Amino acid sequence: MRKPIIAGNWKMNNDISETETLINMLLPLVAGAAAEVVFCPTYLGLQKAVEMTKDSNVGIGAQNMHFEKNGAFTGEISGEMLTAIGVKYAIIGHSERRQTFNETDEAVNKKAIKALSLGIIPIVCCGETLAERESGKAKAKVVGQIEAGLKNIDDISKVVVAYEPIWAIGTGKTASKEEANEACGWVRETIAKMYGQDAADKVRIQYGGSVNPGNVKELMAMDNIDGALVGGASLKPTFSEIVKF
Ligand code: PGA
Repeated sequence: MRKPIIAGNWKMNNDISETETLINMLLPLVAGAAAEVVFCPTYLGLQKAVEMTKDSNVGIGAQNMHFEKNGAFTGEISGEMLTAIGVKYAIIGHSERRQTFNETDEAVNKKAIKALSLGIIPIVCCGETLAERESGKAKAKVVGQIEAGLKNIDDISKVVVAYEPIWAIGTGKTASKEEANEACGWVRETIAKMYGQDAADKVRIQYGGSVNPGNVKELMAMDNIDGALVGGASLKPTFSEIVKF
């Protein structure tokens, strides 16, 4: 009953002309995918990406957004600016933003609420470090991020959550399908405690961390995994094999 959603997080890769080339290459390949497909280029490539995907099955997402409308926030882009050009999704609280740009659960929460108020689907990321996993603190970390990052949400069913263990991002080391499913289960269980089981059953939860054409099928077959947030493998033609798992 939950439509799978597979998003490519292009991170800080591709200038505008490279963005155009990648979209031209991927669009025909991902056509007809049963999953909802999302490309997340850099801010610079968003407008071009929206134009190029207008009549396709692909939606465009930003990799971040600010929660204020405008003002003295040097280097930031607001949700209003994103909706004005037709952006439909925003990745919120990716671990790279949390670790490198000090993004807090409080900011994640403000951004998720703001995105929803504008009709942008937030893809809210959570996940533990290797040290946290090895010391048995993975569940506490994920539950804490969900409780703080997803509080006071009006319509939780519109939120997409991405569970991304930090030790699996860009490392080629994927969580086992059981580990990934268990952690996505922690997310759903926490949302159920906050908003009720019916609402939690509607939330789509992605797994992210070294997803590739070889492991996507077994991950997607797990009951709590409804999609994938894909980094490195989303920049290649074989991304089509992932969205067509
Ligand atoms: P990866 O990145 O697929 O390259 O591991 C995933 C992500 O950071 O969202």
